[in-house]
Amino acid sequence: MSDDCLFCSIVDGDIPGRIVAERDDALAFLDANPLAPGHTLVVPRTHAERLDDLSVDDSRAVFDLVRDLAPDVEVAVDADGLNVGVNDGEAAGQEVPHVHVHLVPRFEGDGGAPIHAVAGDRPDLSDDELDEIAAKIE
Ligand code: AMP
Ligand code: ZN
Repeated sequence: MSDDCLFCSIVDGDIPGRIVAERDDALAFLDANPLAPGHTLVVPRTHAERLDDLSVDDSRAVFDLVRDLAPDVEVAVDADGLNVGVNDGEAAGQEVPHVHVHLVPRFEGDGGAPIHAVAGDRPDLSDDELDEIAAKIE
């Protein structure tokens, strides 16, 4: 538990959450300000701010739960698809500094956009530049 962490407080039951799945190392609850019906958040029970702070076990627990829950969420709200994403870091839009994976149900004609819409202007990168970036990530 991290002091003053909203999602640690939900994990600990100190503030209410609409819990939809509980595992030893991960928990899922409905987003309180949903982007769509069924918008669900999956979090590790142990506090970790960024993806890179997750232990391997917690990482597995979180993404296993995401995988298992995705079809259940989709069926529950009769959605046509699902966007799954993490705002990892403030610059990426992370507001709650406890890792959470968003499962956002999508509906034909809902007026939303694919995950490609999250970034700003697209860079015009040459093959050399792409190679250089790939080499740095490797
Ligand atoms: P992010 O911008 O990725 O950090 O997303 C934080 C998410 O937490 C937002 O979608 C909020 O609607 C959601 N949220 C904030 N407070 C609560 C809460 N008490 N219970 C459930 N979800 C919450
Ligand atoms: Zn926390």
